[in-house]
Amino acid sequence: MAADECTKKCLDCGLVKSTDEFYFEKRDGRYSSRCKPCHNKRSIEGSRRLRERLKITQEYLRRNFRYDESTGELTRTVHTGGAGVPNVAIGTRDAKGHLRANIGGRGEFVHRLIWLYVTGEWPKQQIDHVNGIGDDNRWANLREATPTQNKCNQPVRRDSASGLKGVHQDRITGRWRAYISVDRKRINLGFFATKEEAHAARLRASCMHGDFARES
Ligand SMILES: [Zn+2]
Repeated sequence: MAADECTKKCLDCGLVKSTDEFYFEKRDGRYSSRCKPCHNKRSIEGSRRLRERLKITQEYLRRNFRYDESTGELTRTVHTGGAGVPNVAIGTRDAKGHLRANIGGRGEFVHRLIWLYVTGEWPKQQIDHVNGIGDDNRWANLREATPTQNKCNQPVRRDSASGLKGVHQDRITGRWRAYISVDRKRINLGFFATKEEAHAARLRASCMHGDFARES
């Protein structure tokens, strides 16, 4: 048996050791690329980082960031390592137009961080952008909403044939049907001759708590 079959070079410390000094990874059918001590060191380091990550508190945010309630910008004030640069508002727009930022190795919505920054607690519910603009994080534009309320406040679905929220045309009769969704239940508001009438009925019914509904 050749010597190199029972020895292996560790990827971290670079030492050539007996394969006994490496964990056998059953899933891959081979020895780990790091020796046992280096492997253990890495997992300790990993869990330390994990603990750090979970320690995003109001105090941490206020120490490292500044929030401007009138512009909605959350700005890093000190260099905390990584790609974060001070004095630049954090956040990258996601597909829905919400700002997300990577803090302590964890991707987080900026509006949730702001909520924690201001109130001292992570939001218990979704955060609703009052004007429907997902990256407008001015304090006056944020409020906690139930999942239903948040859904109510979203713009008309692009696939809505009528272009009006809660209004659909019946293919056979050509009449317009209005409905509202409350807690995932669709409530029929009746049929109407025109889509404007159906829309008016939808407006009257409003969406749950009224002011949460963004009518269009
Ligand atoms: Zn090693």
